[in-house]
Amino acid sequence: MISAIKRFFNTFLLIDLLKGMAVTGRHLFARKITIQYPDERTPQSPRFRGLHAQRRYANGEERCIACKLCEAVCPAMAITIESAQRADGSRRTTRYDIDLTKCIFCGFCEEACPVDAIVETRIFEYHGERRVDLYYTKAMLLAVGDRHEAQIAADRAADAKYR
Ligand code: SF4
Ligand code: SF4
Repeated sequence: MISAIKRFFNTFLLIDLLKGMAVTGRHLFARKITIQYPDERTPQSPRFRGLHAQRRYANGEERCIACKLCEAVCPAMAITIESAQRADGSRRTTRYDIDLTKCIFCGFCEEACPVDAIVETRIFEYHGERRVDLYYTKAMLLAVGDRHEAQIAADRAADAKYR
């Protein structure tokens, strides 16, 4: 009975509407947090998981040793690796592809990599107009790494003490 009376007065006095208006009023005068992208940007974490890259050592040698741990751990089965032994006895990939249409950007590949070869960069502004545009080959991944090595190295250094 009491709750029915309460409900009646709430409805009659438009209490729920006034509560809603109060929320609107509070936000009307609060500091605006809309970011005018792309002119303004929010800060990014060094752990941001964006476009993948393959890295090289300072002498230009590719880091990847074709251990295939990243391929094995990838839950989306987005990585395809083929490898061969080089004349100097070291093993390197002959094919390293990531299908970004399958990738869920979980970061497991970079966590698994023993030599920090495959990493996810801060890059999120890329697109493909055909499915094949998002199929990243070894050459494309190395090119991303070459272009952004300074940022990648700085991010890895910033995160090193938490790993
Ligand atoms: S981020 Fe995750 S889903 Fe994407 S390639 Fe790496 S392991 Fe696979
Ligand atoms: S990227 Fe890393 S984990 Fe993947 S095959 Fe190369 S060395 Fe192994």
